[in-house]
Amino acid sequence: QHNVWVLGDGQLGAMLSHAGQPLAINVRPVDIMTPSDERLPLQGTDIITAEREQWPESSLSLQLSEHPHFINGHVFGRLADRFTQKSLLDELSVPTSPWELVDDNTQTEALHQQYGDRVLLKRRTGGYDGKGQHWLKQAEATDIPADWRNEAIAEQAINFDEEVSIVGVRTQTGECVFYPLTLNLHQDGILMASIAPLTRLDHLQPQAETMLTSVMDELEYVGVMAMECFRVGDKLLVNELAPRVHNSGHWTQSGCHINQFELHLRALCGLPIHKPQVNFQCVMVNLIGVDKDDRWLSLPNAELFWYNKEVRVGRKVGHLNLSAHSNDMVNDSIGQLQQWMPQQYQAPLAWILDEFS
Ligand code: ATP
Ligand code: MG
Ligand code: MG
Repeated sequence: QHNVWVLGDGQLGAMLSHAGQPLAINVRPVDIMTPSDERLPLQGTDIITAEREQWPESSLSLQLSEHPHFINGHVFGRLADRFTQKSLLDELSVPTSPWELVDDNTQTEALHQQYGDRVLLKRRTGGYDGKGQHWLKQAEATDIPADWRNEAIAEQAINFDEEVSIVGVRTQTGECVFYPLTLNLHQDGILMASIAPLTRLDHLQPQAETMLTSVMDELEYVGVMAMECFRVGDKLLVNELAPRVHNSGHWTQSGCHINQFELHLRALCGLPIHKPQVNFQCVMVNLIGVDKDDRWLSLPNAELFWYNKEVRVGRKVGHLNLSAHSNDMVNDSIGQLQQWMPQQYQAPLAWILDEFS
C-alpha cells in the first residue's frame, strides 16, 4: 500500500487521487492554504508530492515538506522563482527567451535598447494564468512599477509561430520518457485549448526531449515535469518549466494508456514506467469561468472533467477532452461548442477547426 500526500488540494490533486485509485495508491491531497494546526498521520514510508510550486509555510506544510520522502523537495523553490529558473536554463544552455533581473538600477530605456520596443515584465514568484505580467511598451512610455524592482524579470517579447509543450517523466534510476508534443493556444495569458499529438510537430520531438532531459537530469528530478515552449521556425525556446502535472497534459487522460497523473504516481512510488501508448489524437478545451452545461455530454467524443469549484470569471473550472478519430468528428463537436460557448471561445474554437481543416 502506497500513501502519497499532495501539497495542495485543487484539481490537480483531485485528478492524482483519481489516477491512483485503480493502482491502489492512496493519494491524499492536503489543503495547505488555510492556516491549520492539524497534524497529519504521516508514516515513514509515505511519499510526499506537490500540485503547486509554492505554498505558505505553516506547521502543516512543514510537516509535509520536511518529510524525508518529500520528492523533489529541493526543486520547487528553484523553479518557483523565475530568476533561478531562467538562470538554470542559461547554465544548461537550454534556449530560452532573453531576459534579465529587474533591480534597483534597471532603466526602462536600457531594456528597450536591449530587447526591443515590447518588453514583458514577469513577477519572479506567484504568477499563473498570465497574472503577474506587465508589458513595457516604448510607444506608450510605460514604466517599471516601483514595487516590481528586485521582484521581477524582464523578458524579450518573442514573436513566436505558436506555443507547444512537452510533458515528461524521470524515474529514480534516471530513465526519462515523454508524451508527444502538445500544441497550445493561450488567450490573455491563460491556456484555452491543446491538441496532441500532431504529426507536423514530430520533427521537434527530439529537440524538446533533449531540452527537458537536461533539466530533469541536472535536478535529479523524479516524476512528471512540463516544459512550455515557443516555436520559432524549427527552434524551440523554453518559456517556463512546471515541476508537476500540467494543464497541457490533460489530454493524456483520454488519449493515452497511462495518463500524466498515473505516470507521476508510478515514478514517485518506484513502479514500472514505460513509454505511454497514444490511443488516439485529442483536443482539450479548458472550461474557464463558464457554468457547467450538460449539453457537453451529448457530444459523442467528449469526456468532461468538472472540478466542482465555484465559477468565477477567468477561473479554470473544468476541461473537455474530445477524441479526434476523424476530422468530421472534430468538426461536428467543435461546431456544437461554437453555438454553446460564450464569445471568448470563438477564437480558440476556430483555431481548433483550422488545425483539422
Ligand atoms: P501559467 O498559467 O502557464 O503558469 P504564467 O502566468 O506562469 O502562466 P507564462 O507562461 O510565463 O505565465 O506566460 C503566459 C503566456 O504569456 C504565455 O503562454 C505566452 O502566451 C505569453 N508570453 C509569455 N512570455 C512571453 C514572451 N516573452 N513573449 C511573448 N509572449 C509571452
Ligand atoms: Mg507559470
Ligand atoms: Mg505558462
